[in-house]
Amino acid sequence: MIRKSTRMLRSYFHLFFGPAFRLTSRFPEAFEICKEFRIGREKMLQIANALTKEIQLGLARETHPQAIVKCFLTYIQDLPTGKERGKFMALDLGGTNFRCLLVNLADGAVMQTTLKSFAISEELMQGPGTDLFDFIAECLAGFCKEQNIGNDRIPLGFTFSFPLQQIGINKGILRRWTKGFRCEGVEGKDVVELLQSAIDRRGDANVKIVAILNDSTSTLVSCAYSHPDCRIGLIVGTGVNACYVEQTSKAEMLDGYESSQKPIMIINTELGAFGDNGSLDSVRTVYDKTLDIESVNPGSQTLEKCVSGMYLGEVVRHILLDLMRMGVLFRGMRPDEMQTKWIFRTRFISEIESDPPEVFHNARVVLYHLGIKTDDLNDMACLRYICDSISLRSAQLTSCAIVAMINQMNVESCTVAIDGGLCRYHPHYRNLIEQQLSILLKNASAYKIVLSEDGSGLGAALVAAAFANK
Ligand code: ADP
Ligand code: MG
Repeated sequence: MIRKSTRMLRSYFHLFFGPAFRLTSRFPEAFEICKEFRIGREKMLQIANALTKEIQLGLARETHPQAIVKCFLTYIQDLPTGKERGKFMALDLGGTNFRCLLVNLADGAVMQTTLKSFAISEELMQGPGTDLFDFIAECLAGFCKEQNIGNDRIPLGFTFSFPLQQIGINKGILRRWTKGFRCEGVEGKDVVELLQSAIDRRGDANVKIVAILNDSTSTLVSCAYSHPDCRIGLIVGTGVNACYVEQTSKAEMLDGYESSQKPIMIINTELGAFGDNGSLDSVRTVYDKTLDIESVNPGSQTLEKCVSGMYLGEVVRHILLDLMRMGVLFRGMRPDEMQTKWIFRTRFISEIESDPPEVFHNARVVLYHLGIKTDDLNDMACLRYICDSISLRSAQLTSCAIVAMINQMNVESCTVAIDGGLCRYHPHYRNLIEQQLSILLKNASAYKIVLSEDGSGLGAALVAAAFANK
């Protein structure tokens, strides 16, 4: 592990701080393009400060309606105690897949979890909301049957990872769809009510939704089960979002916040929207702007589009198209495949960056898949350089987000739970975050980054346990 990360850091060092003339002479055009994606320390600190301010605007009653970073209340005011016991269910709808879980808790430990995943088709993502919720209810009913769930009504925690304005622990209004979803008739409605009605209409699953939360909240709660000092939950998967533990006295959107008996409230920042008012303009490139215009939600989720798994591969594709148009890459080859939107998956970036420095086994396989047959080492080094640059910028912005929340909480140490496809599968993402935090924070080692163990399931079940009898 140490050898691997040393090698990785050396390779990044080589790429970003090595003699520039090598890069400029090897692939001058790509070098110029990637220069646009670089963010220095000062700029990162400015971004973190700007985000802290936006968080404060989201929290304050007066500025909340116009705030970009909404800082929604989660109504979760306790972290797990270890005393939760019983059978609970969790549903996780957050982007690419949808999952059902059955969790058995006892004596401060997870006795058993059972999981089933279902793919969400493009048709469901963009069709009527009723179809989506009927499908979820159908999967849930099938899962309950397989698990032989008896007559007892099972409390369920619904992890729903889209911008949700909560008005109670089991009441949440979808503000707007993100991550490619566009189902009609859901925005502005209570998602719990829509799903519970779909479940009750069928009548073959004895399940009650007792809590709704998003994946970052679920990740924080599940990590706090084993790391009581966990204060931040961060997801970089299909999208990006984070939550943190705030003092209730600052959560002004809560009625009676000044006199609440509970000292804390988890705040769902919805920071994927950071930048929607221009505050990230200084780091956005022409490629980010093209991607945004072509997206289903132009002008919104600006940070998300620079950071998350849904978009990074597409940014790389746009850069490659530009270099191919210039005729400086792949010997002028311009295969049709590369014109297809989203064909360059973010997992390709992970695969390409998994090759050791100056080895291009995976790069060759990815290029072959894209209709490009090449053995040109310079082309492949260039491709890797582009991937490294895009991953690094993503990890830098993610690190800015962590610093912004640390500043807001004003804590000297804590555990930061991370999850999502990019954190989990990218070979260097977590190391990059740690490296960037050590550049940004004086006592970076006091902030521990922990990759969550199945946060979006266990966390939701723990929250369901806490609210089962309320
Ligand atoms: P969701 O956000 O949909 O809940 P995940 O957190 O599991 O899902 O993340 C899935 C996303 O992670 C995919 O949409 C993809 O963008 C990204 N991803 C999947 N595999 C990889 C990989 N090997 N490397 C980097 N990103 C990946
Ligand atoms: Mg998820």
